[in-house]
Amino acid sequence: MNRRELLKCGAAALMVPLLPRAAASSAVFSRVRPGDLAWPKPADWSRLSEAVNGNLIEPHALFAACRKVRDGAACHEVEKNIGNPFYIGDQPGGTQTSGWLDAWSAAPSAYAVKARYAADVAAAVNFARENRLRLVVKGGGHSYLGTSNAADSLLVWTRAMNQVSLHDAFVPQGCEGTVSPTPAVTAGAGTMWIDLYYAVTATAGRYVQGGGCTSVGTAGLVQSGGFGNFSKYFGTAAAHLLEAEVVTADGMVRTVNARRDPDLFWALKGGGGGSWGVVTKQTLRTFELPSQFGAAWGTIKARSDTAFRRLIARFIAFYAEHLFNPHWGEQAHLTPDNELMISMVCCGLSKAEAATAWQPFFAWARASSQDFEVTDDLGTGVVAARHWWDVKGNPSMIPDPRPGAPFYHGWWQGDGSQVGVFLHGYDSLWLPAVLLQPGSQAALAEALFNASRHKMVQLHFNKGIAGGSAQAISATRDTATNPAVLDAFVLVIIADGGPPAYPDMPHAVGDTAAAREDADRIAAASAELRRLVPDAGSYVSESNYFNPRWQTAYWGGNYLRLQAVKAKYDPNGLFFVHNGVGAEAWSDDGFYATLAPAARTFLFENVSVLLGEHEYLRGS
Ligand SMILES: Cc1cc2nc3c(=O)[nH]c(=O)nc-3n(C[C@H](O)[C@H](O)[C@H](O)COP(=O)(O)OP(=O)(O)OC[C@H]3O[C@@H](n4cnc5c(N)ncnc54)[C@H](O)[C@@H]3O)c2cc1C
Repeated sequence: MNRRELLKCGAAALMVPLLPRAAASSAVFSRVRPGDLAWPKPADWSRLSEAVNGNLIEPHALFAACRKVRDGAACHEVEKNIGNPFYIGDQPGGTQTSGWLDAWSAAPSAYAVKARYAADVAAAVNFARENRLRLVVKGGGHSYLGTSNAADSLLVWTRAMNQVSLHDAFVPQGCEGTVSPTPAVTAGAGTMWIDLYYAVTATAGRYVQGGGCTSVGTAGLVQSGGFGNFSKYFGTAAAHLLEAEVVTADGMVRTVNARRDPDLFWALKGGGGGSWGVVTKQTLRTFELPSQFGAAWGTIKARSDTAFRRLIARFIAFYAEHLFNPHWGEQAHLTPDNELMISMVCCGLSKAEAATAWQPFFAWARASSQDFEVTDDLGTGVVAARHWWDVKGNPSMIPDPRPGAPFYHGWWQGDGSQVGVFLHGYDSLWLPAVLLQPGSQAALAEALFNASRHKMVQLHFNKGIAGGSAQAISATRDTATNPAVLDAFVLVIIADGGPPAYPDMPHAVGDTAAAREDADRIAAASAELRRLVPDAGSYVSESNYFNPRWQTAYWGGNYLRLQAVKAKYDPNGLFFVHNGVGAEAWSDDGFYATLAPAARTFLFENVSVLLGEHEYLRGS
């Protein structure tokens, strides 16, 4: 077969995403469930337990105690703690989201390896591969899509891998003499961002780019791409990964970086968690800490729809002129009852500079009291950056109240409502910065107004890198995230849910009909924006479970290259997650595949040829 024919075949192979999902009846490969004849015998599990120094456990559902004795002390203990994301993260059967309507519900794995070392992870990976088990990986448990949770699976739980160490002059392995040493931090896969903010910022006075929510896992977020408050200034979290230790499907413990397994390293930078291997530790670049971080806040309510249209238009023009730069990030919300809620943050500005930036907009709103009411004080302020993530004495933070909890563990008040949420619907869209040009602003304002008629529209400015610093843009370009992120000034999120509704949770009130109506409103709101940007990209970790074109939405033109990396390092799809790279070959639950290994090899060969510049994929 010549190269041209191969290219044609390659194109055919890439149609795979369009085929219907695999079904049990047409499966060429099935994984094993408890009760199946091939399910490992007790003696096999004992051998695994020995191999991981006894750290093999049988995880329970969060509310298992309530199923046994509804009014018992153990049940009350779970109820007391269920609003605490750190408590949930400490439970092997815990998920930070309690489920998603018609999508997934929380279910514990059959067994879990509570890993402490890379060798424990390798033992679990080999055991799962050899016994055809469904394997799942969990760090902080914050996946909205439910990808760190699967019934009848073997879980690799990284929570105990929580070591953090700082470097003054880090050089990735194999790069000695070719790259300049750089300050960095190495973090075990079970660490949360608050662990790094405490070590890097509060203790060492430096900055590391992580996520906004303090209890999110570091490994999960970096593989998502990952945005934090100041991503317009620094870039995504993935953009600053220098090296990772990862256990791949063959059980090998690899140290990967820009020199070693560079294709896999690139995929780990935004290619989606749970698809590549188990990351056991990561090293991230650290930066000089700006002297101050700041914020702008307040709520303006328009007295009529006409006035709200005007408010949105004015805010967009103001954003484009004064805030579309590396300094400003985070959020503004537009609500169905005509409110603009401002919750923005800034980096590298003095108190006076922050106030000056907002003065024209605040003055305009205050001067138009016939149209607008300030329902929550408008203001700006700054604090010493080193204290941004302090928990003690910080009125915006809720400390982990459990006895013995680290004093630096706490969560933002604003994230509290998300703990255990039962999602009705969720969607996100990157909007390109061209919409901020004067000739496009009216159409943008109209689409935002129309969307806000259905649901609250959240504008996350820090999750679009356009307008960011040159460093943020160039570092983020070298990741697997959809390149649309570089042209986007904002990620719009439209999402909602109800109170926690974990299986067996006492007093959980679920109104399925109302939840479906809510999901319809979310879909209607996002449709208004898709009319403006029909093929908008979407952020893999904050996105619609039901997005039919998830491959291009999450990764754009990078999907092809990611497929090739997947075929090289995980040809048999041991690492499956919903809407993860390669998932199109599997049933929704990841138990059945329709593509035989030979077909996957064929896919790999063709994709490799298509990607002429990546011939190294054939190596090793
Ligand atoms: C309340 C809340 C707030 C959030 N805030 C932000 C935010 O500010 N910025 C942002 O960008 N995102 C945010 N997210 C999304 C979040 O960053 C992603 O869902 C992220 O992947 C979560 O990582 P985790 O380890 O906590 O979750 P998990 O559910 O444990 O993992 C997420 C995915 O990564 C995989 N994974 C985890 N650890 C590993 C590992 N060691 N090796 C291989 N795969 C692994 C899992 O299998 C799963 O597929 C938020 C989510 C929630 C629920």
